Amino acid sequence: MNADAGAPVDPRAAERSAVVDLAAIRHNVRILRSRVAPAALMAVVKADAYGHGMLPVATAALEAGADWLGVAHVSEALVLRRAGIDAPLLAWLHTPATDFAAAVDADVDLGVSGWELEPIAAAAEAAGRPARVHLKIDTGLGRNGCTAEQWPVLVRAALDHEAAGRVRFVGVFSHLAVADEPVRPETDAQVAAFRAAVAVAEDAGARLEVRHLANSPAILTRPETHFDLVRAGVSIYGLSPLAGITAAELGLTPAMTLRAAIANIKHVPAGQGISYGLRYRTEAASTLALVPVGYADGVPRIAADAPVTIDGQRHTVAGRIAMDQFVVDLVDPVPTDPDALLGTDAVLFGDPATGAPAVEEWAEAAQTINYEVVTRIGTRVPRVYRDSGTAR
Ligand SMILES: *Cc1c(COP(=O)(O)O)cnc(C)c1O
Repeated sequence: MNADAGAPVDPRAAERSAVVDLAAIRHNVRILRSRVAPAALMAVVKADAYGHGMLPVATAALEAGADWLGVAHVSEALVLRRAGIDAPLLAWLHTPATDFAAAVDADVDLGVSGWELEPIAAAAEAAGRPARVHLKIDTGLGRNGCTAEQWPVLVRAALDHEAAGRVRFVGVFSHLAVADEPVRPETDAQVAAFRAAVAVAEDAGARLEVRHLANSPAILTRPETHFDLVRAGVSIYGLSPLAGITAAELGLTPAMTLRAAIANIKHVPAGQGISYGLRYRTEAASTLALVPVGYADGVPRIAADAPVTIDGQRHTVAGRIAMDQFVVDLVDPVPTDPDALLGTDAVLFGDPATGAPAVEEWAEAAQTINYEVVTRIGTRVPRVYRDSGTAR
């Protein structure tokens, strides 16, 4: 069922939209879940589901068998709970301003790297119910997580709070640094450090429900990282986390298509300069198509030479991408009836199986990764949900 079935389509969507295929999300979740079984799967829907829209994606992922949802912030978790989603849910990035009382009240599991344990225990005491916590060990990423030195102290404190009824110590987790480069030995060291941290917790008496380490690249390349639960982000959106390996090669279907209706078509002479800085000039008399999305919409300004599909033909961005728009010089091939293209779709990226450019081509042109391109699509671009219904 379409998560948005019955919802009115945003009236802006005819002009520009990020079309998200919920059947693709469900397909990807099923594929990933079967790959990691018997481990369970957490669908990571932080950052508005990497720009795809948190509530429709969360609903589709759960329909397809995702066992958990994961977000960075408690505020994101509360949006899911307020929408009536009652699946197991973990939030892991907090500050002293985080509303732990609301999290405990809403039955949100909380990642704990150290200092958070005391305010979480206090919030649980006030609420009269235990907080469910997952202790995070830093196995080498050097970001959040408890150091190995402090780990036994943190484990002891969590078990003491558990004995007093303030917390339930349900999980141990960590995050990988280089899993997208499968040959690097640092991942082996992180797995070993993770096993050691789990052993410290269990030897101290922890009765863990879940041990979790793998992100998308580890899910796809490192079965020894799967443990009880994996945290799948970019892969549920149908994007490859591995350089040089396409989504299709991984059996994944990209869910998002970014398209806009062509805003103007005009015929210009040779030597016409295009956009700010006049960095591009037409080589011969030509036809220009104006595409009405720009960096305000999250289309990266530096992505010169990125591909765009118009009427099934691949073309290239000409000149600078501006705040609201960019230009395509309709050469190679020259359209047979260019004036008929006004109002038709320019497709920036989508599923290459449909003829669309891959988001990775935009990422390369913008010197970044596919994660960033989809996540930064702006709020001026309505998300539109479709359901191709195919179980590809
Ligand atoms: C974002 C995130 C993930 C998901 O990573 P992907 O590479 O997108 O699968 C998993 N775990 C943590 C802690 C994260 O912050």
